[in-house]
Amino acid sequence: MADFDVIVIGGGPGGYVAAIRCAQLGMKTACAERWLDDETKPVLGGTCLNVGCIPSKALLDSSHHFEFLNKHASVHGIGASDVSMDVGAMQARKKTIVSTLTQGIGGLFKKNGVTWLQGEASFVSASEIAIKGADGKASKATAKNIIIATGSEPTQIPPAKVDQKNIVDSTGALAFAEVPKRIGVIGAGVIGLELGSVWRRLGSEVVVLEALNEFLPTADKAIGKEALKILKKQGLDIRLGAKVLATKANKNGAKIDFELKGEKQQLEVDKVIVAVGRRPCTDGLNAEAIKLELDDRGFVQVDDYCQTNVANVYAIGDVVRGPMLAHKASEEGVALAERLAGEKSHIDFNLVPWVIYTWPEIAWVGQTEQELKAAGVETVSGTFPFLASGRARAMGEGEGFVKIIADAKTDQILGVHVIGANASELVGEAVIAMEFSSSAEDLARSIHAHPTLSEATHEAALAVSDRAIHF
Ligand code: FAD
Ligand code: AMP
Repeated sequence: MADFDVIVIGGGPGGYVAAIRCAQLGMKTACAERWLDDETKPVLGGTCLNVGCIPSKALLDSSHHFEFLNKHASVHGIGASDVSMDVGAMQARKKTIVSTLTQGIGGLFKKNGVTWLQGEASFVSASEIAIKGADGKASKATAKNIIIATGSEPTQIPPAKVDQKNIVDSTGALAFAEVPKRIGVIGAGVIGLELGSVWRRLGSEVVVLEALNEFLPTADKAIGKEALKILKKQGLDIRLGAKVLATKANKNGAKIDFELKGEKQQLEVDKVIVAVGRRPCTDGLNAEAIKLELDDRGFVQVDDYCQTNVANVYAIGDVVRGPMLAHKASEEGVALAERLAGEKSHIDFNLVPWVIYTWPEIAWVGQTEQELKAAGVETVSGTFPFLASGRARAMGEGEGFVKIIADAKTDQILGVHVIGANASELVGEAVIAMEFSSSAEDLARSIHAHPTLSEATHEAALAVSDRAIHF
């Protein structure tokens, strides 16, 4: 039986990164992964590469280009009549990107000496797993330490049973073969807004039904308000306070029954996208064999160091508490690998950046003004609109703003919130500043190249002490 220092169960951005880092640090490492592309071909990369971050961004970029040519090219003097969309070609491009990247992970495993145990892993004991391969073969392996990185899957709700035909989850919505005429998206979270945007840009009429009365409740209120205004103006029909009660698929589409402010309503659509969140995935693990503790929502219980209740068994990524984000999973994987090697890595969970890849993009790090107020922290803030940024104007991207919140007494930056073009890239500077406990003054005194979008961050930092130059 093969014996390892570490076995990682799950080859998503949590698991594959943990496995590579363990191997780099000299541990004999294996990674068990069961994912089958097209239900036949074993692949690495997990949700993120196969049906998450990467394919969604591929479609967001394709649909962004399409919308640019249709709606915005003319102001640049570009004539783009007769713009057409070949959905098959767009999907083929997405598939190529995904398979190039998933194969790349296979290459990284080879380079770093990580053994891929293809198949579904289940616990035999806290130091032994059984693997059922896609080829039907069974094997076993042992390890000193086992890392659970089994990720998450779309949440199912009783009123919207996914059939992956007319009622689909995010995976189905990434694979439409043609542009549906009418789409009903259930849930105005990150995934619902991103996928709703893709298909709206390509021509679908998209209605987003969100049970809560507040839009993007985890974002800073100013950002949520601006995002709602912009996305509605783009044509996303976002209905807040709309609770879906039932959906029924028929030959041509589906009917959605929902309640809006106490009134029962019905919507007829061609496709329903169910985007009501994700849940931890521990099926097939035989977690009972090692008496692994899960919380009441099914997450593997861990401490701040990803240690479960079972000695030498750890868990990282979407299957444990915290935001379900690929970079959070990867950082947990790296930090855990380094601790297993005797180093002292730790993660500041307050500094995990959040991004929503609508257009404009939305990104933030740290706390919102509402959270700080609730915690009794006295703050000052500075806001700078992209309309006042020369670069944003030149790009035709004047929507949105940067808002920086600092401690009123110490000037330390406590939160940076961006809605605007390339917000996903701009937030990187904010993460580094906050990682180094920067004050707004530090950021205000750092030279930013002109003309760049990052000047808006610079000006927002200046605005914290009322000395923005261009606004
Ligand atoms: P996963 O990526 O889910 O990987 C877990 C792996 O474990 C899977 O490959 C699974 O097959 C395997 N596995 C499970 N059980 C077993 C078993 N018993 N044996 C063997 N293998 C097993 N996050 C971002 O940060 N940015 C984004 O832009 C973003 N976009 C997203 C868009 C969509 C449409 C979706 C659905 C998600 C998106 N996410 C995004 C979230 C991101 O995909 C997850 O946070 C990330 O994949 C979590 O990584 P993980 O390694 O914990 O789990
Ligand atoms: P997220 O967890 O960020 O992906 O967001 C999922 C969203 O779906 C949340 O904002 C939920 O309020 C919303 N949601 C969950 N169930 C329903 C439902 N039955 N009808 C409408 N929205 C829902």
